Amino acid sequence: MRTFDYKPARSIDEALALLAEYGDEAEFIAGGTSLVLMMQQGLVQPGVVIGLGAVPELRGIKRSADGGLEVGAMTTHRVLETSPEAFAFAAALPKALGVIATIRVRNQATLGGNLVHADPAQDPPPVLIALDASVDVVSAGDAARLIPMESFFTDYFETSLGDNELVRSVKVPPMPAGSKLAYKKFLPRTEDDYATVSVAVRLGIDDAGTCTDLRIGLGALGVTPLRAKAVESALLGQRLTESVVRDAAALVRDEVDPLDDVRGSAKYKREMARVWTERVILQLGGIGVPA
Ligand SMILES: Cc1cc2nc3c(=O)[nH]c(=O)nc-3n(C[C@H](O)[C@H](O)[C@H](O)COP(=O)(O)OP(=O)(O)OC[C@H]3O[C@@H](n4cnc5c(N)ncnc54)[C@H](O)[C@@H]3O)c2cc1C
Repeated sequence: MRTFDYKPARSIDEALALLAEYGDEAEFIAGGTSLVLMMQQGLVQPGVVIGLGAVPELRGIKRSADGGLEVGAMTTHRVLETSPEAFAFAAALPKALGVIATIRVRNQATLGGNLVHADPAQDPPPVLIALDASVDVVSAGDAARLIPMESFFTDYFETSLGDNELVRSVKVPPMPAGSKLAYKKFLPRTEDDYATVSVAVRLGIDDAGTCTDLRIGLGALGVTPLRAKAVESALLGQRLTESVVRDAAALVRDEVDPLDDVRGSAKYKREMARVWTERVILQLGGIGVPA
């Protein structure tokens, strides 16, 4: 591994000042679970590593005044997994964090690091896409912008984060009244694996059985996490029955572009996308037992 200088920051301003000073030479380090592996493999070779571990403003989980949720970028997966605030918001959110790798990884790795690492098979992104969350990003001079989760990921391990920017938090808007959330990570190999495919659904159905809210996030089904917009459009405003959901879920096959890898062929993953999209919607909506 290339020798590097370690510069711990104590505030967001200091982290951004160090980034401005060292430019392309610098990388932030959060939990280090991905960055250190990338450095060991020579894929990233920073001369300066800026530590975010002692920046208190980047930690914490709080409910916002409008009933939403705000999660600091340096919040570890384990803290979010066990957060009473997150459980009160939507139990499926902390549960989704609880299926990441092992407790050892979850104790170390952070939400901000996960998003910036941008592996398309990671678990938080599809859930946060389904929740219509945004990435709260800051740069020097207190400039800030909110990037919708679904446009944060631009390519394989690539994001729209600028060279001078830091992820400060993730902002999740309140759930629409009556809507529910579910996440399925399909793991046919081992329990601590990355997803073969994953599906997150936020669903609302009124008393007449009509779909009033639907957002679907997908993991491991393309070079970035995805949103299944065609399935959403086909079901929104419809009375949901098993056959209506089955027909709409089949549309997901044309929305995904999975890669062949050790977890399965692209053909298999495309089919699993259909199967799990259908099942998660049916189960969450209480619409009968899937075939
Ligand atoms: C063995 C193993 C198994 C795993 N399995 C899973 C899994 O099943 N599901 C899953 O979702 N994830 C999995 N992960 C990934 C893990 O969840 C971490 O989220 C991810 O590795 C990075 O988090 P980190 O905090 O360690 O970030 P780091 O490794 O410290 O950083 C990653 C990248 O983010 C940048 N960065 C970090 N914080 C910020 C910030 N605030 N602003 C701007 N840039 C920032 C860094 O510069 C670096 O480029 C696994 C990781 C390992 C090592």
